[in-house]
Amino acid sequence: MSKVIAVANQKGGVGKTVTSVNLGIGLAREGHKILMIDADPQGSMSISLGCDEPDRLDFSLATALVNIINDEPVDVSQGIIHHPEGVDLMPGNIELSSLEISMTGVISRETILREYVDKAREAYEYIIIDCMPSLGMMTINALACADSVIIPCQAAYLPVKGLQQLIKTIGRVKRQLNPKLEIEGILITMVDNRTNYAKDIAAQIYEAYSSSINVFETEIPLSVRAAEISASGSSLYVYDPKGKAAFAYTSFIKEVLNDGTKSWSESKAI
Ligand code: ADP
Ligand code: MG
Repeated sequence: MSKVIAVANQKGGVGKTVTSVNLGIGLAREGHKILMIDADPQGSMSISLGCDEPDRLDFSLATALVNIINDEPVDVSQGIIHHPEGVDLMPGNIELSSLEISMTGVISRETILREYVDKAREAYEYIIIDCMPSLGMMTINALACADSVIIPCQAAYLPVKGLQQLIKTIGRVKRQLNPKLEIEGILITMVDNRTNYAKDIAAQIYEAYSSSINVFETEIPLSVRAAEISASGSSLYVYDPKGKAAFAYTSFIKEVLNDGTKSWSESKAI
């Protein structure tokens, strides 16, 4: 049984990529076979996993998706980069931007990634998709093939409007394209425990959503070390194993493995 988790929020800078990396590698450390898919043209997850110049790759996610659009057979192992911490990466790069535009005229354009992912399910236990900061066609593709979504949410401003739009989109994808899609939970990130403001925001998110959506009990603290990992090419478990962010991601993963996913209805959530 494989599980596909999309890490999504159309707002940039909320911790999607740092969460994807440390979720994927954390699950690998628990002995699971993991594929990380970088679905962001900025290639931040690819860079974080040590692929310095994703735009120069011969084969990336965009190449795989173009092959699918052209009805060529899918070879999931092609273009995979093995990371020393035990995860496989299908890198993403700038070519995803032009692909997104050219998808407009393609039949079944919302489910192209699903063809790739369904094939990859045979080889992996968890597939983590790091989404781009928009609700465009690549993110719809990720939601259309995922079993669940994790929504990182930065505890620095009141994100209610943006969250409602995201939840609506997830609801629409669930109804029209992917009835089994669930919201795994909202993960509050970059919590600066020295300020009351961050605690207030976290409390407000909890109050507004926890009756209808799982809000992870674990909060990811603001940590300079977490901000440094994209340049280090490693996870927090290697870069700062005793740090509070590594500890928090470990406890978050326990929650994910215990599967707190509530059955969820859009109408209750917005
Ligand atoms: P997104 O993928 O949503 O754009 P990132 O994961 O790239 O967000 O995080 C945005 C920025 O914040 C990056 O510079 C990252 O290094 C930093 N960051 C992420 N998580 C933390 C954290 N817990 N503490 C401090 N900085 C963080
Ligand atoms: Mg990112």
